[in-house]
Amino acid sequence: MQQFRAGEMVHAYLLTGARGLGKRTFARVLASTLFCMSEHKPCGVCDACRRVWDWNDPDVITLFADDGKQIKVDEVREVIRQVGQHSFGTGHRVVLIEPVEKLTPGAQNCLLKTLEEPLSNVVFILMTHELTATLGTIASRCVRVKMQPWPDALLGDTLEKLGYDRAKIPMALGLSGGNIGMAIECLEDAAGDEESRSFAAKVLASKSDADILALSTALKDGKGDAEQYLTALETAFHQALMMKAGLLPEEALSRYPKGWVDSLSHVDEAALNRLLEAVFLARRRRAGQVNWQSTLDQLMMTILEEQKSWQRS
Ligand SMILES: [Zn+2]
Repeated sequence: MQQFRAGEMVHAYLLTGARGLGKRTFARVLASTLFCMSEHKPCGVCDACRRVWDWNDPDVITLFADDGKQIKVDEVREVIRQVGQHSFGTGHRVVLIEPVEKLTPGAQNCLLKTLEEPLSNVVFILMTHELTATLGTIASRCVRVKMQPWPDALLGDTLEKLGYDRAKIPMALGLSGGNIGMAIECLEDAAGDEESRSFAAKVLASKSDADILALSTALKDGKGDAEQYLTALETAFHQALMMKAGLLPEEALSRYPKGWVDSLSHVDEAALNRLLEAVFLARRRRAGQVNWQSTLDQLMMTILEEQKSWQRS
């Protein structure tokens, strides 16, 4: 940031780190620092900042492999042609490429030549989710910036500012390991699928074969997504394990039946692992085209038997 604010950038940076850590966002912040018209850069609100933020600045050129396809040499050549022309604004040009591991060998060579003979006023910000050996030559010509996981306190504050439900944030912190993209994904999932969550809650609350039978009958007419039902159960058991390991506060499980959460206090980790295994087995059956209803019935029975044994203990 200091280099960009002072106009003392080098010609190429490589941001490394797992998907979700905020590489692309950081690249945009860096780019807007160059174009921002306010005193404290980047302000995020001036026209120049907005243009960069909306991907609407002709001096910020992007090459993203969001479709999962490779980035071809022709695409790199086109970008290099564009940066060779006059700039539209302050004279700076920024090229963002993500992820560089998607460049074909030809495209890598083409980019490498440009990095070896830097163009004035052009800054390349390259991004990689995984720094592989094949990127060594490109990496050696860039200043590397390793994106770090966020500290929990900062991540929690940020999620709250973004408007996420305060009660669910501890759960997202526990599951994301400081990765803001992953935390947001958890929170979106948790908010989005009310039906599978209520299914999971009912399974966890079931006390008898009759409960399971009623649930199973209700499901026959339901349109719920099989995969999401399994994920909802898996999440419950996973969170229970995390709570037992002291990695999640008990409040993070507040969406589950209280009786079930209380019973966790005298359940060992092996029992929860058996339940996770049962979900895994159900997934495998489903993949193997075994009848979904019978797979689900069997899974619910396994969970019921396990939970009955908790009561006895
Ligand atoms: Zn600005």
